[in-house]
Amino acid sequence: MADSTGRALTQEGGSVRTPLHREVHQLLTFDEYQETIRQFDVSNGERWYYALGLAGEVGECVEKVKKFYRDGVENVEAVRFELGDALWYLGRLADKYNIRLSDVATGNVEKLTARARTNTLHGSGDERHLAAATDVGGPYLG
Ligand SMILES: [Mg+2]
Repeated sequence: MADSTGRALTQEGGSVRTPLHREVHQLLTFDEYQETIRQFDVSNGERWYYALGLAGEVGECVEKVKKFYRDGVENVEAVRFELGDALWYLGRLADKYNIRLSDVATGNVEKLTARARTNTLHGSGDERHLAAATDVGGPYLG
């Protein structure tokens, strides 16, 4: 169901459905996007398919960047197209782990915020912000 603006509405039971006739240019939330793309999945539904597809589409995007440096011709539309393909695989892979894209985005922003507060945006190590917080008197709690 959708309201008069086409925004997805939560149905009974909490699931969100986005109508097929929805204007594609409308801004989607991460979760609306993730729900919408399920209908286009014709794969076997196995995680390896999405993981390999994601890597492949990121590779296609990198190829467009390479061609800019090789040929001096920038094709922003082609990069946008490949990023969209990568986003599709990312959304489907997250779905197969029952992870919402909004949680992926929120968790990433929380991690980066913690790194900014602990002055660890530079450096390496997935949990360096936690180690730095411990060094100054305990883990970062928000
Ligand atoms: Mg592609």
